Amino acid sequence: MGIIGGGQLARMCQPPSVALSITLSVLAESAEASAALVVPSSPVGDHNDVEAVRAFARECDVVTFDHEHVPAAVLAALVADGVVLHPSPAALMFAQDKLAMRRRLTEIGVACPRWAQVRTMASLQAFGDEVGWPVVVKIPKGGYDGKGVRVVGRPQQVADWFARVARDVGEGSGPLIDGLLAEQKVGFVRELAVLVARSPSGQASAWPVVETVQTNSICTQVLAPAPGLDPNLAAVATAAGLRIAGELGVTGVMAVEMFEVRDVQTGDPAYMVNELAMRPHNSGHWSIDGAVTSQFEQHLRAVLDLPLGDTSPRARWTVMNNVLGGDYSELYPTYRHLMARDPGLKVHLYGKGVRPGRKIGHVNVSGSNLDDLRARASHASDYLQGVITA
Ligand code: ADP
Repeated sequence: MGIIGGGQLARMCQPPSVALSITLSVLAESAEASAALVVPSSPVGDHNDVEAVRAFARECDVVTFDHEHVPAAVLAALVADGVVLHPSPAALMFAQDKLAMRRRLTEIGVACPRWAQVRTMASLQAFGDEVGWPVVVKIPKGGYDGKGVRVVGRPQQVADWFARVARDVGEGSGPLIDGLLAEQKVGFVRELAVLVARSPSGQASAWPVVETVQTNSICTQVLAPAPGLDPNLAAVATAAGLRIAGELGVTGVMAVEMFEVRDVQTGDPAYMVNELAMRPHNSGHWSIDGAVTSQFEQHLRAVLDLPLGDTSPRARWTVMNNVLGGDYSELYPTYRHLMARDPGLKVHLYGKGVRPGRKIGHVNVSGSNLDDLRARASHASDYLQGVITA
């Protein structure tokens, strides 16, 4: 089985592939890419290079993705070659293009923030005047970790993005952006994520709904399951995740990022979908240690059309903290300290070069006392990041 992209998600598919004796190949950006460091078959190639991707896919029974950035033309060439792709390009496009995603979710009646496709400053002004300022403006394609998302009080604050839109439309080439996505700024209670998996045969499964805690638009902590979540909202949100997977024909793991809101009429807990990721996702890293079947094993099972595994939690709570940046030249003393302090702690580092704020690993802790687990996870991520020294 092949994975396009050699990031940490491909890397974390390696342990379950070893356990199941599935031969994994990764098309890596470089020989130092996170997955290339641990997967023996990791040819180096650019996911934008159609011939490189075709040559890679020819050797694989099934091909899946580490990220959503493979261009439509490359995907189309693979389909024409008869490559088995999961998720299919027809499904993947809804994770690649936020405008297409909003349009489709609205069609199938899934709750979303109010939104509009805006091609001009005037149309953004009209949208903001209608839903109220400030509004959230997004570049429809290619964003991650909040890059490509701005909260603006007036259209001039995205003048540079409109210039880009005009340029793209004018040239008719490159990553064509047909306008920007404008959204009502949702006054959410917190952010949730629903993680589901669906196989080509249509079997589907879901993990418990989690809470994702963001700091400066980057997810720093995940609480599994979301504490104090209204059981009705948990059921409705999970049903929405499974329905989206079915309606969009998703195969493999999909994360549905949501806002928890209060219904304006009744005050009842409700959700709005923020966005979709069609691959294992940061909000599911807790499952490696906290669930009977991890999202990485489930992704392999799903794309290979094997029966799906049990998604039950192994403990009352699991807390995952991301590790963002830090100095990893001397891991041995770091590990000595962390492992002595907390024998229950599970550290996962991705072998990536460190850039400030970059996700270079995560830690998981499971147990019955949520406050204690949050404190332990935060201590470990702070220590790994060099924020604290004891
Ligand atoms: P990315 O694709 O870069 O992760 P998202 O669309 O998930 O971008 O947005 C990043 C963050 O910005 C979200 O996690 C949320 O905190 C905030 N955000 C996004 N859309 C809205 C919205 N409509 N209303 C309020 N906050 C939003």
